[in-house]
Amino acid sequence: MCGIVGAVAERNVAPILIQGLQRLEYRGYDSAGVAIVQSDGKVQRRREVGKVVNLSDNLDADPVKGSIGIAHTRWATHGIPNEKNAHPQLSGNKKIAIVHNGIIENFNELKEELSKNGVIFRSQTDSEVIAHLIEHYFKDDLYAAVKQATERLKGAYALA
Ligand code: GLU
Repeated sequence: MCGIVGAVAERNVAPILIQGLQRLEYRGYDSAGVAIVQSDGKVQRRREVGKVVNLSDNLDADPVKGSIGIAHTRWATHGIPNEKNAHPQLSGNKKIAIVHNGIIENFNELKEELSKNGVIFRSQTDSEVIAHLIEHYFKDDLYAAVKQATERLKGAYALA
């Protein structure tokens, strides 16, 4: 069962996200990742197969800093456990990052629809459709775009 952590703080959230994932390690998972909004506004993503310590070693070796971030431990249901399938999943313009727990039952149908509009999929997960759908609906209101996107999703899930 996966774990989701999100943080907004006045300090760098990378250590907060890693601590949060460590607390959720008892749940069982196959890979872990974070996405952090840097001070230049760009989303930086890091993902590692295996234990959270691999991800924290990655961040220790080459730190990412920012005050908003999300993190995930994945228990694969769609797509093998590898780095490409680990979360966060990004939209095409790399501005929307999502972490997802659960299954999107109608992902094939949504994937077909988005592919027809030129969207390129980079993972085998059901989750990636969520990031692309939010980008598709986003104009200037993220909340509205997330609402519209989630109205299209079938299944039981949580996301950040
Ligand atoms: N269904 C998603 C995947 O396979 C999320 C799995 C989870 O809940 O960790 O990537």
